[in-house]
Amino acid sequence: MVIAKAEVRKIKRRTRRSHRRRAELGIPVGGKRPFGWNDDKRTLRTEEAELLAQAARDVIAGKSLHSILKNWREDGVRTVHGNEWQSRALKLALWNPRLCGWRRHNGDLVRDVNGVPVVGQWVPVITPWMAIDALFSSRVGPNVKADGTITDYRTPTHLLTGILRCGKPKGDGQICNAPMRVSTRPDLSGGFVYQCPSRSMGGCRGSGRNGTKVDECVTEAVLAKLEERKAARKKVDSEWNGEEELERLTKKQRKMLRAWQDDEISDELFFPENRTMEVRIKELRSERTQHALRVQRASVVTDEDVRQKWDSDEFDLAQKRALIRELLHAVIVIPVGGGGRRPFNPDLLVPKWIED
Ligand SMILES: [Zn+2]
Repeated sequence: MVIAKAEVRKIKRRTRRSHRRRAELGIPVGGKRPFGWNDDKRTLRTEEAELLAQAARDVIAGKSLHSILKNWREDGVRTVHGNEWQSRALKLALWNPRLCGWRRHNGDLVRDVNGVPVVGQWVPVITPWMAIDALFSSRVGPNVKADGTITDYRTPTHLLTGILRCGKPKGDGQICNAPMRVSTRPDLSGGFVYQCPSRSMGGCRGSGRNGTKVDECVTEAVLAKLEERKAARKKVDSEWNGEEELERLTKKQRKMLRAWQDDEISDELFFPENRTMEVRIKELRSERTQHALRVQRASVVTDEDVRQKWDSDEFDLAQKRALIRELLHAVIVIPVGGGGRRPFNPDLLVPKWIED
């Protein structure tokens, strides 16, 4: 049977509209069940749901997607199609607002007229999806493309690569500032050195420092800083102070839209003003997401003894690095003057803290 093109288009349009309507009602759509839920797409498949929830918590706590993927593969966890998990699929499964009961349609959260996300007719796996969203949105960058493909699989093998920077002065009075790399020195009995890379790699090769000692020293400074902030913080983080402005702006925008639809204000007035409001609303929403992430992170860190978790290796390297990156822009390594073997001097490490 031949169906006219126009007819096909009509059917497609109808399906799209129906998907949108179902999305607004929070009714599940699409083919195969999502990982974590049963065939009814509403009730949880316990074993999978627990895996998802744990992975979500781990990601929020700073664990790398790669190490979760590795664990799942080792444990023989399969997708709903019976395949081995790939990084992109795992990321999409975790970045799905469905996890906390919400619905995404064409890339955006489905919201009701008040801008509140529509809650679906399925059981959620976890609640702090905003935190995951913030995390993945901010991770879209050199290693993670917008569609979730990971382009760089290298998980750093040392605590401070990319964080330590060379502090040797150049001719113009500026410091070299090249990110230091790791080189192993057989003569140091398995030890390693953080080293400014060669000129051809963008450095000056002018500074190097005992890796184990630098790691110890910076770890101690970071833990002390965490404890100091924990004492100062307590309840500061719990409330986000932009809620009022966001609500006011959203209301104002709706009001203006109505006025414009009723021809009470002109196009010339409406469009630029509406654009300005939209930009600010977007800004505020992203602030709110970032705040949710901070609160979530803070609770991971302050609930229990960080120092103990750090020492007992409950944190893996990626989690430790995530914590360090939250506190430090960089640590500048000042060259040891004079030459020859000098004792390790912690004062020649200058931390650049991110202000709280
Ligand atoms: Zn250098």
